[in-house]
Amino acid sequence: MTRALALTSGGLDSILAAKLIQTQGIDVIGICFVSAFFGSKNAEKMAAQIGLPLKAVDFTVEHLEMTKHPKNGYGKNMNPCIDCHAMMLKYAGRMLEEMEADFLITGEVLDQRPMSQNKKALDIVRKESDFEDKILRPLCAQKLQPTRMELEGLVDRSRLFGISGKSRKAQMELAAQLGIVDYPTPAGGCLLTEPQFANRLRDLYNIDKASVTPEDIRLIKLGRQFRLSPAVKLISTRNSQEYIDLRELIRDDFIILDTAECTGSTGVIVPTKGMTAADGELRLAAEIVARYSKFKDQEQVVVKYRYGNQEGHDFITVKPAREEELAKYLL
Ligand code: SF4
Repeated sequence: MTRALALTSGGLDSILAAKLIQTQGIDVIGICFVSAFFGSKNAEKMAAQIGLPLKAVDFTVEHLEMTKHPKNGYGKNMNPCIDCHAMMLKYAGRMLEEMEADFLITGEVLDQRPMSQNKKALDIVRKESDFEDKILRPLCAQKLQPTRMELEGLVDRSRLFGISGKSRKAQMELAAQLGIVDYPTPAGGCLLTEPQFANRLRDLYNIDKASVTPEDIRLIKLGRQFRLSPAVKLISTRNSQEYIDLRELIRDDFIILDTAECTGSTGVIVPTKGMTAADGELRLAAEIVARYSKFKDQEQVVVKYRYGNQEGHDFITVKPAREEELAKYLL
């Protein structure tokens, strides 16, 4: 029996592509990827709607390294979509033999995204994947040269589509025809496409790209973040869940700050590798922590602080930071 592996992102297009091939009587297995920037939840939800068996592949480390130096650059934010697609296809391509599958399917649509899904970009993705003659794009296949799978009769080209452009109308009509009713917005779920996250990642890469680890990426997802200097960043929690998440990531060289006499946000000073907070930076961090406490309108607030590996606390008395001052540092 002919079998295909379908890249399943959790968006509508990839699930439509998989479903179109399923309807040709071909066995389809979904492959979704897990990285520091996206997980498998949306893909699981979408796959369940069409009874698609799904295999999750964790490529966190290699994907993170790729985002530091994407050969084909970034999209609107920090999303290196061309390199990311090529990497996913390369991984899935390497699984063809083991999964006894004949070819790969993607949900790409010609000219849907100006940077990553134009003709040139699709060609680059195909070539850089190392599996160029095994990739089928069912949604826009009729706008592209016939693939080996179509020429050899594994797939009926006349039952594929020729969708192109930014409009989602054709995909929405097709979804309705195929009984797919519940789907997320396009690109939803990838943090690299979100402006605020992209801003934080850019900051991290500007400071010391080479040393960034998956734990650093977990840190930039949390709280309010302030770049105080090239040596230090402050994270200020917004709720108790963020505090719990942050606690798991505390290292010995981090400095934890809390207001001593009232409730408020916890602050964590995150130093750049090999650096420490200067006295002025510690004071500024304490002022910001005081600003997000119950005593934010008082003239003087006592803030306690300790290193991640320290038993007791030290104390510093500060005036809470002013709103306009915060804006200078906010990421
Ligand atoms: S939106 Fe994110 S997951 Fe999708 S191709 Fe671009 S970088 Fe990769």
